[in-house]
Amino acid sequence: MLDVNHVVKKYGKNLACDDITFQLNPGDMTILLGPNGAGKSTIMKSIMGFLKYQGTITVDGMVNKTVDAKKVLGFVPEMPALYPNLTVSEHLEFIARAYKLTNYKDRIEDLLCRFELDDKRKKFGDELSKGMQQKLNLCIGLLPDPKVLLLDEPMIGLDPHAIKELKKYIDQMRSEGKTLLISTHIIDSVDMLWDRTIIMQKGQVKANITKPELEKTGQSLEDLFFSVTEGTKEEEA
Ligand code: ADP
Repeated sequence: MLDVNHVVKKYGKNLACDDITFQLNPGDMTILLGPNGAGKSTIMKSIMGFLKYQGTITVDGMVNKTVDAKKVLGFVPEMPALYPNLTVSEHLEFIARAYKLTNYKDRIEDLLCRFELDDKRKKFGDELSKGMQQKLNLCIGLLPDPKVLLLDEPMIGLDPHAIKELKKYIDQMRSEGKTLLISTHIIDSVDMLWDRTIIMQKGQVKANITKPELEKTGQSLEDLFFSVTEGTKEEEA
């Protein structure tokens, strides 16, 4: 469903993605783990076609920068980019029209209620607290209901209720067969159902393992993360 092939991205001399290759199967919920600066956001922005890079990326067999690929790709960025002069409702209406969604009113209501923004619908983007901006950012990304959704550090800045709702929503999307890629540097936040984890460090993929494969090794995700990113005790000695 998503095919990332030998992607190299440099910011000046800084190699942010150093020959990244991975595939996501349809319906897989994949966790992209890695310390700060590992290159998680950069590979996500590359998949979305926001950056120039070397290598190829296809979505559902289509090159990611084509209009058809963009129709199946969705993104929740780490930093909300809201319009100060649009209200909460107007943001969602704008997205619905931009994506030419039909029968979207109930979906908007559902998202506003789930993320407790229903009493903020007339507030302007710049009147929202940081947490509310994050929630609106999430609603904007979820509204088009894409086949493939990337969420970059989606838990950051959310209150416990919103985190709980988001995890429920992610489980629901997974059961509907959506392909999900969720980045985080906080292993503790990965307590929802997942199928594959990819661990990045210093711009490289250091591990790519399915949940059944990890279970066979007897390691926890945390064990794997630290052995991959910090080395085992024997290697350090
Ligand atoms: P992560 O999302 O894993 O925290 P990033 O993809 O944001 O990592 O960053 C990977 C590397 O690329 C880091 O060294 C970071 O400083 C650098 N980087 C990210 N964005 C930019 C940018 N716009 N300009 C220059 N360097 C950047």
